[in-house]
Amino acid sequence: MGAFEDNLARAENYLARFRDGGVANLIDGETVPADDGATFESISPVDLKPLATIARGKATDIDRAAKAAKAAFPEWAAMPGEARKKLLHKIADAIVARAEEIAFVESMDTGQAIRFMSKAALRGAENFRFFADRAPSARDGQSLRAPGQMNVTTRMPIGPVGIITPWNTPFMLSTWKIAPALAAGCTLVHKPAEFSPLTARLLVEIAEEAGLPRGVWNLVNGFGEEAGKALTEHPDIKAIGFVGESRTGSAIMKQGADTLKRVHFELGGKNPVIVFADADLERAADATVFMIYSLNGERCTSSSRLLVEASIHDAFTAKVAEKAKRIRVGHPLDPGTVVGPLIHPVHEKKVLSYFDIARDEGATIAVGGAKADGPGGGCYVAPTLFTGARNDMRIAREEIFGPVLTAMPFADEAEALALANDVDYGLTAYLWTSDITRALRFTDALEAGMIWVNSENVRHLPTPFGGVKQSGIGRDGGDWSFDFYMETKNVAFASAAHAIPKLGG
Ligand code: NAD
Repeated sequence: MGAFEDNLARAENYLARFRDGGVANLIDGETVPADDGATFESISPVDLKPLATIARGKATDIDRAAKAAKAAFPEWAAMPGEARKKLLHKIADAIVARAEEIAFVESMDTGQAIRFMSKAALRGAENFRFFADRAPSARDGQSLRAPGQMNVTTRMPIGPVGIITPWNTPFMLSTWKIAPALAAGCTLVHKPAEFSPLTARLLVEIAEEAGLPRGVWNLVNGFGEEAGKALTEHPDIKAIGFVGESRTGSAIMKQGADTLKRVHFELGGKNPVIVFADADLERAADATVFMIYSLNGERCTSSSRLLVEASIHDAFTAKVAEKAKRIRVGHPLDPGTVVGPLIHPVHEKKVLSYFDIARDEGATIAVGGAKADGPGGGCYVAPTLFTGARNDMRIAREEIFGPVLTAMPFADEAEALALANDVDYGLTAYLWTSDITRALRFTDALEAGMIWVNSENVRHLPTPFGGVKQSGIGRDGGDWSFDFYMETKNVAFASAAHAIPKLGG
């Protein structure tokens, strides 16, 4: 990326179309306003000024989109996997070609620093390539033999699905949910988050331009309680892939009950990083800092609880504090920025409220703990470290979803494990130790869907992604995604003339 001023000019250029024309829905291949003409404003986290006017879809728009997805389903599902593979690679190529535009728009819409967003756009392309390559074998199954019988399993796409995404890294997450659905042969309705809807529009346009048949991918913008709810209740929608807060997941489960929706939930986290005295402490400190202060801490897999062996606690937290103090807060398009403004004043208020909660609970604010100055005067929050916390404090139990880390000491392995597991969430955990036997023992007992040992979160796309407890239901990645978007069918062939019971003579 170029210098800051250059970035600003380019971003303005990319944003002009949104400022002038707003963001419409895309239903059955047509760009359309909301049926009742309703709109809402999306604002920039940098200066809180309007960025674009967005279509505010409701139940009627969702109904149209679901019907379009239903009508497009038979043909799309019947298309040979090789053809779907080609199309999905074309989408990936177009994402790469427009990576800068996507990254700049995403940065301005979310407040995420451009240094991370340029990679997020490319990760989106990788997601498409990964699932494109698996499209031809998505239906493959097993052959299970019994005496006199051969069973053959196969998988069929489940039907039109709904995808509901959050605001934190919307482009990457949308590709992560949508690419496997398309590769499996499903059609879809996507409802992006109201706080950051711009790149979802770019993405669906890219797909249309790549030649995706009309109706296969429909985009309906709007609020969760309106468009989102209607999508989860629609009888033509067979499954909901949802990424967002745990309590929204629980609402969606209720809303989908009448139509027996299959659900896949990627929810919140309060993920521990556990550091033993025998670890490589320099690397552990860098990884801890990266996992909580990158992406503004608005990251489901962030290491928001730091559990440190008592003998090194003070030295280690001092190291983390030094690094946290030096982190640059600034404009998201400034190449030097690490932490940009948080998504929205509503979320900023929530994050800031935890500074008072920490004081009231008797924790120490070792670093940060206040709003930060930044260009445009937007939702800037200083990278923060709480020390002297206890696991029963709200700052140790609740997902803050900002650049805020809560540190606690532990005396021994048993206490570390008890603290790590004593939360409602179970998305990720990060373990730092040089004792391989302890690592095996400890990871066995940790309650988390994904654990990294001596590493920050480094994704390998074929591995399963998802959480336990209140962090989610189901797994994404590799074949696990197909299991969600497809139904497994078994066909039993008689291979011998077995005795059939004769009833009625
Ligand atoms: P959110 O739950 O408020 O909103 C997510 C989406 O759900 C939005 O599109 C919203 O409009 C929609 N929604 C809200 N209410 C709805 C309803 N009743 N019915 C249907 N849809 C509804 O989440 P958020 O604040 O946008 O995102 C932050 C949360 O997402 C955090 O908790 C974070 O941990 C989580 N997250 C999880 C993962 C993961 O992979 N586990 C990844 C990213 C974010």
